[in-house]
Amino acid sequence: MKRIKIFAPATVANLSCGFDVLGCCLDTVGDEMIISLTSESGVRITKIEGADLPLDTKKNVAGVAVEALLENYDKEVGVDIEIYKKIKAGSGIGSSAASSAGAVWAVNYLLDNPFAPHQLIAFAMEGEKLASGNAHADNVAPALLGGFTLVRSYAPLDVIKLHTPQDLVMTVIHPQIEVKTSDARSVIKQNVTLKQAIQQWGNVGGLVSGLFTEDYDLIGRSLEDVIVEPMRSILIPEFKNVKNAAIAQGALGCGISGSGPSIFALSKGMETAKNVAEAIRKVYTKTGLDFDIHVSKINSKGIKIID
Ligand code: ADP
Repeated sequence: MKRIKIFAPATVANLSCGFDVLGCCLDTVGDEMIISLTSESGVRITKIEGADLPLDTKKNVAGVAVEALLENYDKEVGVDIEIYKKIKAGSGIGSSAASSAGAVWAVNYLLDNPFAPHQLIAFAMEGEKLASGNAHADNVAPALLGGFTLVRSYAPLDVIKLHTPQDLVMTVIHPQIEVKTSDARSVIKQNVTLKQAIQQWGNVGGLVSGLFTEDYDLIGRSLEDVIVEPMRSILIPEFKNVKNAAIAQGALGCGISGSGPSIFALSKGMETAKNVAEAIRKVYTKTGLDFDIHVSKINSKGIKIID
């Protein structure tokens, strides 16, 4: 029996200006999974620890994603999946994406890599469709490819891995409140003005350029969202105060992570990122809400084998 244990990373999607197209991969926050190939064909989720999630293959994103892969594989294969959840579901840091991306990556590895990365992204997107009703790639792409990724197009799927400047560090606060992805999507108006669009695509271009040229000031100027953040941030307690505190401590930018409620701040250097974490902690302690804070370098590799 072939078996592998992996680290399936958390991810921050959107990155302010890149709704549904930009994302990046974290290094110190993520799930663990054990995937085994077995002689009994079919997919089974044999164990889940750390979260109350369905073992039913059709209701768990990991099962759905692996089934999508096996439908495109011409031999009979059996797969057993164990999930050790550390990323809370509905946190906005890619809990479902970690499971879908981790599962397909590990199965592909155990089968001696018959599928290319862009095919794995498409299979993992089937898991995302189960989780949120929308087959988005902005979390599964950075989990699978590592670093920063851009979905240039969904049809056909065209995902580009961007450059990761060495000194970028992410601070994330996860307030333990529920923001349903469906609610977070329903507050977004379907139309944008030309003026907003011009600002937004200017920022996306600026951010991509800033990442490649390691221009931290340009990255900071480009971390601006004039379309989604003004509507979604009302669902997140203290959003404005957290953002102001992060920027005052020297963060390059701060915004909503995925569909929230998590908030991310990107900083240059670990020291600034830790100071930002402390400033955000002070803001949130006053609310009486429970929360987690993570500080992580950008993981330019993505999913990692740990055993
Ligand atoms: P996040 O942004 O943190 O990924 P989502 O709202 O996109 O959160 O996804 C969480 C949803 O996916 C929950 O409804 C959860 O029950 C469902 N789900 C199914 N399987 C898994 C899994 N293996 N890991 C995480 N969430 C899962």
